[in-house]
Amino acid sequence: MPKTLNLNLSPKQAASTEGWLSIAVRTLGIRREQVALARVVKRSVDARHQTPRVLLTVEIFVDSDTLPEEVHFDYPDVNGHTPVIIVGGGPAGLFAALRLIELGLRPIILERGKDVVERRRDIAQIHRGVGVDGESNYAFGEGGAGTFSDGKLFTRSKKRGDYNRALQTLVFHGATPEILYEAHPHIGTDRLPRIIEQVRATILASGGEVHFGAKVTDIEVRDGRATGVWVGDTLVEGAAVVLSTGHSADDIYEMLHAKGVLLEAKPWAMGVRVEHPQALIDRIQYHSDEMREWLPAAAYTLTAQVGGRGVYSFCMCPGGVIVPAMTDYRECVVNGMSASARSSRWANAGIVTEVRPEDFPHLHEEWGVLAGLKYRQELERHAAEIVGGGGTAPAQRLRDFVERKLSFDLPRTSYLPRTEVHKGEEWLPTFMAESLRGGFKQWGSRMRGFVTNEAQIIGLESRTSTPVRIPRDKESLQHPQVAGLYPTGEGAGYAGGIISAALDGTRVAEKIAESVK
Ligand SMILES: Cc1cc2nc3c(=O)[nH]c(=O)nc-3n(C[C@H](O)[C@H](O)[C@H](O)COP(=O)(O)OP(=O)(O)OC[C@H]3O[C@@H](n4cnc5c(N)ncnc54)[C@H](O)[C@@H]3O)c2cc1C
Repeated sequence: MPKTLNLNLSPKQAASTEGWLSIAVRTLGIRREQVALARVVKRSVDARHQTPRVLLTVEIFVDSDTLPEEVHFDYPDVNGHTPVIIVGGGPAGLFAALRLIELGLRPIILERGKDVVERRRDIAQIHRGVGVDGESNYAFGEGGAGTFSDGKLFTRSKKRGDYNRALQTLVFHGATPEILYEAHPHIGTDRLPRIIEQVRATILASGGEVHFGAKVTDIEVRDGRATGVWVGDTLVEGAAVVLSTGHSADDIYEMLHAKGVLLEAKPWAMGVRVEHPQALIDRIQYHSDEMREWLPAAAYTLTAQVGGRGVYSFCMCPGGVIVPAMTDYRECVVNGMSASARSSRWANAGIVTEVRPEDFPHLHEEWGVLAGLKYRQELERHAAEIVGGGGTAPAQRLRDFVERKLSFDLPRTSYLPRTEVHKGEEWLPTFMAESLRGGFKQWGSRMRGFVTNEAQIIGLESRTSTPVRIPRDKESLQHPQVAGLYPTGEGAGYAGGIISAALDGTRVAEKIAESVK
């Protein structure tokens, strides 16, 4: 049996294997030569004190211990097996496909966007301000919103076993093993596309299918049961239909609503991205400039209550960049991501507040359950109109926003294509501006230096989740009206990130296998 040790170390001691291993060996009273394998199983930074500490849990195997086996998955040949349609190849769809294969079913993924290589070119065009391909952008394409994302793998999921298995699946497909033990695992946008390609390779090698440029426009329902989907004029049939289309597929919600398929309105959150110099956040969090030699770019998590509304930071990206995440050129949508090294000069985070049905009374009568979706669209288009579209985003210096002053210029930013100075009130509804302002004020007094004009807010952070849920039965996970239709992932309202979407897709695959076999 390996020995497990909890070490409380200085950042310098924790920075190299030799640093912590020499302490571990001394603590155990063994010689360095006796160690057959030493590995970190958990790592976190405790920055609450004046000098941050690194908490490491390590396992030490000596010569007589059985070494752990490498992570391995078996994906059997499912050629000729029962087909299951998966609409959307994001984390929910891909993980559903992998699990279906393990359970002996043959996934057919229909993805409206392009493969990761072609998609990368379309994304570069968005950065240049040249245009947004409505089918190939930060939301649509192979790997979904999870491909050119930050790749933070945190989830609130309580089922540790499932979470570990999802991480191991990513490692099996090329992610670095560090994600298995980091307290806040992160892959980075430079490494994600390769992993997604490996997942595709697994699916194809097992006899599954992956089709790009395959936009599903309708669902075939016979006698209350989903039997297939329409891609233009082509009917693709399967034993079940997994609907994993993400939070940006407005046309899917509209199609379902028009068919009379039950949908539900749900609360969601919107706001801005705030961007600081990373060095400033490091100084605030690590209480000094020197710590960065040993520690990663510092992060933060912030929450506040303002006038009964929750305000919070969302998807914080240390050492990251802000990206244009719209799916239509007439919209203004931003998000954040970082590369594995988290080495950019900026730190950004979504700062968002709850949006409630009473915030958009003018839309309920006309749009019913889709009113929230229309409100999101209205705000995204309004923000784009103010700056003249073209991917330009409205922005304001943070302190000026908090103090209700005009900004005359803007600090440098990671955001491409470009930002344009506009008072927050011009592009945010009043309740949202007030809520965010209240949050910033509270955090400014907790984190000295946070509310500064070296930072800026950039709009809009509008796609934190979906304003519409596609309901499903708690037990069978099928839509209550349409048997065989399995809504899953973020777009259906059951996930809020890469791993939660992956876990939800996995769960749905297991339910399908139970009912189809
Ligand atoms: C820039 C950015 C950074 C992010 N960073 C993180 C992060 O660090 N950590 C984290 O956990 N989450 C992050 N997210 C969010 C995360 O990517 C999503 O929560 C996750 O991808 C949701 O997975 P999903 O499979 O449910 O949906 P999606 O990933 O949205 O996938 C849906 C797929 O369905 C396809 N589709 C839609 N309509 C159709 C149709 N009609 N026919 C065929 N296909 C269709 C789309 O093209 C898309 O590929 C980030 C998102 C962005 C944009």
